[in-house]
Amino acid sequence: MKHHHNFSNWINCFIFLAIFFCLSTDSNSQSIDFCGELSPNEAYSTNPDSIVYDRFGNSYDRYITEEIYGSELTTSTMAGYFDLRFDIGNISPDLTEVIIDVFEDLSSLIEQRVNTTGCSQEIEPSPVVIIIQSANLDDGVLAAASPMYIGGSENPSCDEVNVNLVDLKINGGLPGKGLDGKIEINADISPYTWNINTASASSDEADVYSVIIHEALHLFGIASLIGSDGTSSDDYFTVWDQFFIQLPIMKEHRV
Ligand SMILES: [Zn+2]
Repeated sequence: MKHHHNFSNWINCFIFLAIFFCLSTDSNSQSIDFCGELSPNEAYSTNPDSIVYDRFGNSYDRYITEEIYGSELTTSTMAGYFDLRFDIGNISPDLTEVIIDVFEDLSSLIEQRVNTTGCSQEIEPSPVVIIIQSANLDDGVLAAASPMYIGGSENPSCDEVNVNLVDLKINGGLPGKGLDGKIEINADISPYTWNINTASASSDEADVYSVIIHEALHLFGIASLIGSDGTSSDDYFTVWDQFFIQLPIMKEHRV
């Protein structure tokens, strides 16, 4: 029950943020989309156990080794129970501090569940591993994000719910140090600049804290695997997808 209560809070928060972002867009003359799609990516590994997928259908190597991800991303920055892997040096190092603040705040708001063994011994929860990287995203996009999913449905005729790895680790369901989610920040947001302090953003600024909170909501699972044609990706649906409802009038018009 508590879970549902928390979830509705998240939905309210999401709606609030959606409205907030719409309002702040309207106040600018330039059109800006805020949130886009992650850059195309394909895992090097061919072993299914070493591959994870984002919500856009890209594959990634699950384990962050230097030879695959480079030395920057093998360095951990702990923020609460999040293990952040930064590679945004070419934007501004000041962004890093704000992003750490966001994940520390989220860690204090949402407790990580500690599971126990059958003998009532606590299982040490694993940190949630998030890559935060600069990328050349579409014009007008500030950032993009996705949690990771274990893919490869073995029963394509069955619509399964795929719980993302961020969700699993927060709920104590998955030990291990593999990649759980990714945020990309657009390397070029001109004519805007990043607002890195807690003062209100001016009309030509994008607020780092607000943008990262929005992206974090995607990491937590406010993310769909339903395509524009209404079918699921790889025969999987997310937990969030279960909250979509079809009204009788929509059925009538085949929406
Ligand atoms: Zn978004």
